[in-house]
Amino acid sequence: MNIYFELIDDPRSYPEDSAGENGNYMNICCSCDKDFVGNKHRMICKTCQKENKEKWDSLTEEEQTSVMIKNCEAIQKIFNK
Ligand SMILES: [Zn+2]
Repeated sequence: MNIYFELIDDPRSYPEDSAGENGNYMNICCSCDKDFVGNKHRMICKTCQKENKEKWDSLTEEEQTSVMIKNCEAIQKIFNK
């Protein structure tokens, strides 16, 4: 069977993207390195997105702020090279 048809029903995929333009791309998740189907601009599979959202929601507001500051600092380092 075509791998696309195997992946479209995978919990990592976004079948809701398929009706839109560029919604049927085979992507590789930047978090777990597994294949999934969705919009070509998606960087992360639905499973990792859900896990990350649950982790994020479990943090206190102070912890979320601390994570955002660390991420901003990491991005600034990339662009200030
Ligand atoms: Zn993933």
